[in-house]
Amino acid sequence: MVQAVRGMRDVLPQEARRWRLVEDAVTGVLRSFAYEEMQLPLLEFTELFSRGVGEATDIIEKEMYTLNDRDGDSLSLRPEGTASCVRSLQEHGLLYNQTQKVFYTGPMFRYEKPQKGRYRQFSQIGAEAFGFQGPDLDVELLLMCAEFWRVLGLTDFVQLELNTIGAQASRIKYREALVAFLMPLREQLDEDSQRRLTTNPMRILDSKNETTQALLADAPSLADYVDDDSLAHFNSLCASLDEGGLTYVVNPRLVRGLDYYTHTVFEWTTNALGSQGTVCAGGRYDGLVEQLGGKATPGAGFAMGVDRIVLLHEQVHQDLPNPSVDVYVCFAQESMMRAAQLLAQNLREDQFRVRVHMGGGNFKKQLKRADGSGARWALILGEQELVDGTVTVKDLQTGDQETVTNAALRGHISSETTS
Ligand code: ATP
Ligand code: MG
Repeated sequence: MVQAVRGMRDVLPQEARRWRLVEDAVTGVLRSFAYEEMQLPLLEFTELFSRGVGEATDIIEKEMYTLNDRDGDSLSLRPEGTASCVRSLQEHGLLYNQTQKVFYTGPMFRYEKPQKGRYRQFSQIGAEAFGFQGPDLDVELLLMCAEFWRVLGLTDFVQLELNTIGAQASRIKYREALVAFLMPLREQLDEDSQRRLTTNPMRILDSKNETTQALLADAPSLADYVDDDSLAHFNSLCASLDEGGLTYVVNPRLVRGLDYYTHTVFEWTTNALGSQGTVCAGGRYDGLVEQLGGKATPGAGFAMGVDRIVLLHEQVHQDLPNPSVDVYVCFAQESMMRAAQLLAQNLREDQFRVRVHMGGGNFKKQLKRADGSGARWALILGEQELVDGTVTVKDLQTGDQETVTNAALRGHISSETTS
């Protein structure tokens, strides 16, 4: 048998049930904040990502799935959604002179080392807003995230880390100071960081190498370089969060892996998933639209890692209610199939999830299948029931059995299903 490609995910039915629950909860909150769903292609020109995500990032340097189209174009599977989202809104004239609040869901692809919570195909729910300059948008994004955790029952298992990386001009000054500090230590840095010293030095702060992190202890602090406007933006954000009762930690070392951020950056992390602890990450990227060739437009957003949130949800809420079958219909002989199907159809219209037995056999065999399906109720349609206009209902949890009229069936099972 051919096997799945390493790092590509199968989400099997059990997990998919939880997945659906998580995705519905999150997109429900997004809709309640009046963010609108959009859908974006999985393939884009490679150039979109090298310009949007930034040349000197892990994603562009070593994680992209890039292929040549038959006509010679270089295309890449999307490693993230923000660049595509900007590309799309810009291309369709939806950024100029207006504001947008949108979200999208779906798979992203990065060639990384697969492990628990880190895959080569993984799924994100991304939200982005354009045309809002002030910190009130940053506040909304964070309150919306807090609402996800509340709805999912995960509030006690995640923390918010926040930082401001300033406007572009202050970052350039900081960058010079950082390079001046690190140049003499160059030889002691890890290989990636040595390279980044000339390409993208801010990213060195993000390094996971311990020696590099130790060297950074005495590095100039980003906070000392942040401009007054950025500080005012950040202080206002923090004040609103305090007022809203949202707890956070300011982490002065937090810079995001992608190039396009300005001002606010944040991560929601959990201690429950080992080193793959970031479940949602985002911030402000006022420079991105311009960087991609549009007119300067403020933007901010975040991406949540659905795979990791599903893992966390599974750890916290071990059992999953909501089996996928409510009712299993058994019937005595082939000539009754039509009656069984009609019975099922009526219940489906009342939102029950119904399976009709297939493959014949006696009631004993059929009831065994009903048990195995996970259904709460088995309906038994025999000769007598058909004549009388009744159906026998077996509660598969208690084993109780009762014959009711067709008219009473709906009330009978609904009054007892509400568990
Ligand atoms: P990490 O530091 O964990 O690699 P990142 O900074 O590369 O994360 P982002 O690009 O900000 O991640 O993506 C946002 C979120 O998407 C992450 O916080 C994480 O939850 C999820 N994510 C990113 N890469 C993966 C992956 N390979 N597998 C599963 N989830 C991922
Ligand atoms: Mg990464």
